[in-house]
Amino acid sequence: MPEGDTIFRAARTLDRALAGRTVTRFDSVFSKLARANDDVRMAGRTIERVDARGKHLLIWFSGDLVLRTHMRMHGSWHIYRPGERWQRPRADMRIVIGTAEYEAVAFSVPVAELTTARDLERDSAVRDLGPDILADGFDAADAVSRIQAMTEAEIAEALLDQQAVAGIGNIFKSESLFVARVDPFARVGTLSREDLSRVVDAARRLMRASALERPAAFSVYGRGGRPCRRCGTPISRRKQGENARVTYWCERCQPASPTRPTKR
Ligand SMILES: [Zn+2]
Repeated sequence: MPEGDTIFRAARTLDRALAGRTVTRFDSVFSKLARANDDVRMAGRTIERVDARGKHLLIWFSGDLVLRTHMRMHGSWHIYRPGERWQRPRADMRIVIGTAEYEAVAFSVPVAELTTARDLERDSAVRDLGPDILADGFDAADAVSRIQAMTEAEIAEALLDQQAVAGIGNIFKSESLFVARVDPFARVGTLSREDLSRVVDAARRLMRASALERPAAFSVYGRGGRPCRRCGTPISRRKQGENARVTYWCERCQPASPTRPTKR
């Protein structure tokens, strides 16, 4: 699943290509969007901006309309010059927003709705998000408090809870815990506020770097069995939580907390 940094980068690319431009064409295979387009006539509206909130990508149009999309596992937005060959099959197309200069194409995006700013704020999918790890005004203290409240959860699971902190996915869950030297299986209630702050700070630093600069080589993610870059111990991997998301960690740099279940 794309993480906050990927969505953030996609939003910036779309914003640079589309902001200030006039919609010339709006097509969607989603009947709800196609019907909405019949009502509100997207063509002729100006694209005001594109931004991200957690893992939601928001395209703002003049006349108080917002297109919210969520990528889930396989969705993506591409930008093309008119007439340029698409890099994904036409059958995967879900939405096309055309302008004179560029067209934006959403492929395999499973969640899309056209809404207003006010309804967006009322939508629980957006309203209940925790502080956005990538936002300029990120409230780290609030994020730490929300995580701290999940005393029984394992810290790696708590980091994925979008209502605690929005934008962190499976990759940066493992990466930030490694940098902060925290056991992914430690229960939140056994960690100090400093521990949690260190994890949140690491997540923000790593994800901002990935979103704004260039993606760095991962320390632990996807490196099961290979030597830790810090101490040489083989990196461990194990499925964790209800959704069995794979966690990577270094047994030596992130020693087992007393609450870690012993059975693997
Ligand atoms: Zn290590």
